[in-house]
Amino acid sequence: MPARTLATRIALPAGLFTLASVGALSWALIRSQRTNALEEAALGSESIGEAILLAIEHEMRVNERYAIREVLRNLGGHEGIESIRLFNKQGWISFSSDSSEVGRKVDMEAEACVNCHEGPTPAVVLDTEDRARTYRNAMGQSVVGTIQVIQNKPGCQGGGCHPAVEAMPILGVLDVVMSLEAAEARIAMTGWRALIYSLLAAGMITGVLFLIITRSIHRPLRTVAQATQRVTKGVPHVAAPRGSAPEIRILADSVNEVVENLSSSRSQLEAWAGRLEHIVAEKAKELSEARFQIVQAEKLSSVGLVAAGIAHELNSPLMAIITYSHLVRKHLPEESTAHEDVRMIEREANRCAGIIRQLLDYARDQRRNEEVERCSLSEAVYGALELLKIDLQNGGISLHVAVPDDLPPVGGNDVQLMQIFVNLFMNALHAMPEGGKLHIEAGTVERAEIRVVDLPPHPATRFVTVRVRDTGTGIEPEALPKVFDPFFTTKPVGKGSGLGLSVSLGIVRKYGGTILVESRHGQGATFTVILPEHIEPSEG
Ligand code: ADP
Repeated sequence: MPARTLATRIALPAGLFTLASVGALSWALIRSQRTNALEEAALGSESIGEAILLAIEHEMRVNERYAIREVLRNLGGHEGIESIRLFNKQGWISFSSDSSEVGRKVDMEAEACVNCHEGPTPAVVLDTEDRARTYRNAMGQSVVGTIQVIQNKPGCQGGGCHPAVEAMPILGVLDVVMSLEAAEARIAMTGWRALIYSLLAAGMITGVLFLIITRSIHRPLRTVAQATQRVTKGVPHVAAPRGSAPEIRILADSVNEVVENLSSSRSQLEAWAGRLEHIVAEKAKELSEARFQIVQAEKLSSVGLVAAGIAHELNSPLMAIITYSHLVRKHLPEESTAHEDVRMIEREANRCAGIIRQLLDYARDQRRNEEVERCSLSEAVYGALELLKIDLQNGGISLHVAVPDDLPPVGGNDVQLMQIFVNLFMNALHAMPEGGKLHIEAGTVERAEIRVVDLPPHPATRFVTVRVRDTGTGIEPEALPKVFDPFFTTKPVGKGSGLGLSVSLGIVRKYGGTILVESRHGQGATFTVILPEHIEPSEG
């Protein structure tokens, strides 16, 4: 069943209430009208009775029975008069408008007699309303009957008709019965009219209320509800319909307030969600970097051990090759091809010896617990730049250096720190074969701001950073996680050993720092060296 609207819920009960009230009022009025009509009819019947008695008094005194009968017959046939009869004290009917009744005895327990004859002593005089009775006749019609008592008066003994007054004070009764059909019809008509008016009033009140509620409550409410629905789809404001009642405007204002609160809460939630997402993404990145660095550290240490063994084994035969090739070359004529070949052997063997030396250094660095000195990173940077000055110039590299001299000192070893920057600058140079820009910036950062999770343990809270950014080829995404792997290189044979970054990372981690890399292929690369501020032994 569809839900009833507000207008129906209010207008319908109001209409029913009106119908019930007007109906009840009408019913009460009709009842009192009916009582009045009956009383009037009873009075009318009584007046007629009195008039008949006056009219036939003379005939009764002279015992003109025929004249009496004629009067009663004529009046009895008159419209509205149902019957007229006259009977004596014993109930014998002497005259009647219905001639068949004459000579019969009335039923003393009938409705005409009980009013006076119900007690042991008959009442002599009754009030009109007590003497009147309404009932339905044999044809089912509504009638009112009144009786007139015929007193024994001094003139009634003439002709020996009646005994002395003292012996019989009442001679008989005149019973006049009048039809109430006309009065009942009028009352019924009034009742029908009252019913129709009640229905009309109820219908009108229902209709008017329905219209008023629909126009001033239902429709504005529906408009506000539709506007509220639109608000959920992004419309910023609910407008109350023009000409709305103040309550509707208040409702629209409240909805607007709620909407504003909701939207500000939503934007707050979105901001929180965004922040949370950002934090989660950052943490995820930190975790993956940490994992990467742990793996890196493990690789470095295991490679360090392997490298130490291999280097040791290779070193002696390689020294022999260098020594003997040197000796052989001395015995060959300088301009000969053989001399040149042996020189080539000697040179390549020397290159191998260099790599082995690097490996040994690397392995030694892994194990060695060197004394940590107070070093200046700016000196390391400028030292490395000085070393590579010519190469950078020849390579068409423009330098953009922002490294303050007053950077806090870091713990380390001057030579090793410089070696790190030589590696980084050389890599940048190799990545920009057509020339480019090399940005070097330095600064400090608090531990809390560093995203790296697995920084080696160190008591410092402040760190010094050096960012080396080039505009070179950048690093392929798949190569990015491998750049710190020992022996990983993309350079042609003879140009790179793949040890530069792994050795550099090994050095930095040994002093409690790390190196971060960011790069997009084709958009250059950025390496950030992070080292903890030096803490004097007495401070730690
Ligand atoms: P090598 O320089 O001997 O190759 P590294 O360990 O120094 O060894 O570098 C490893 C690899 O990382 C390089 O071969 C190169 O592919 C990549 N790489 C390092 N630095 C850069 C850079 N600035 N730009 C592009 N690629 C780089």
